[in-house]
Amino acid sequence: MTAAPQSILMTQPNGYILWEGPSPIDGSPLVAIVTMKTSNRKTGKMAQVWILKRDLNPVDAIANGSDNAICGDCPHRKQSNGVRTCYVNVGQAPRSIWLAYQRKAYPRLSESSYATVFSRVKVRWGAYGDPAMLPGVLFTAVNRCAAGHTAYTHQWRQPFARWAVGMMMASCDSVKDYEQAREMGWRTFNVLSVATKPAVQSKQCPATVEGSSAQCATCALCNGARVDVFVHAHGPSAKRVTYV
Ligand code: SF4
Repeated sequence: MTAAPQSILMTQPNGYILWEGPSPIDGSPLVAIVTMKTSNRKTGKMAQVWILKRDLNPVDAIANGSDNAICGDCPHRKQSNGVRTCYVNVGQAPRSIWLAYQRKAYPRLSESSYATVFSRVKVRWGAYGDPAMLPGVLFTAVNRCAAGHTAYTHQWRQPFARWAVGMMMASCDSVKDYEQAREMGWRTFNVLSVATKPAVQSKQCPATVEGSSAQCATCALCNGARVDVFVHAHGPSAKRVTYV
């Protein structure tokens, strides 16, 4: 393996550009940035991958609907009635990261440096944006060097996302979604209303069990290969489940 460039090892930036390329939805230019530190208590210590439009800040992209390039047909995007149930506040971290990208604060990370940067690091794909928008070769090359990963996609019905079966969780918002995704070969992450009985073989996300101190960084069930996981809806997700 080629040694990492000295500049990367010495400066230890907060994040790196992993990839720049076209959206499989509309061909518009996207960027994937990985940040190495997080204060997210649910995930714990994981590198976080943000998928953003290159040419438009994420707040404006939601406002004009062009966030479909990074989120596709996710039902938590802003709907025609103005309701948006995504849990990500794009005015915070996604906007700051996009602005830092515009200031050229992040160096490009070459594949020869993955082993150095990601050894002993678990990666959360899609802190914002859908990781199925990325090339499968990038996803597998990083994961090969990382200590583990979690990933979720709402694009599981789309032919362009088939490469992610077995490596990402299909995000499901109803029992119908769950049944369809299972039939298509996906492991699933299910947001259920409190009244909905989970499928017998699925496992409750340990981080949502009363009194648990589990975090994604120690759990890593959501790697697309292990089990179906469910959570009972709360906050903005509960609104969406009510609509479903
Ligand atoms: S099941 Fe584990 S990896 Fe998945 S969301 Fe819950 S804590 Fe995170």
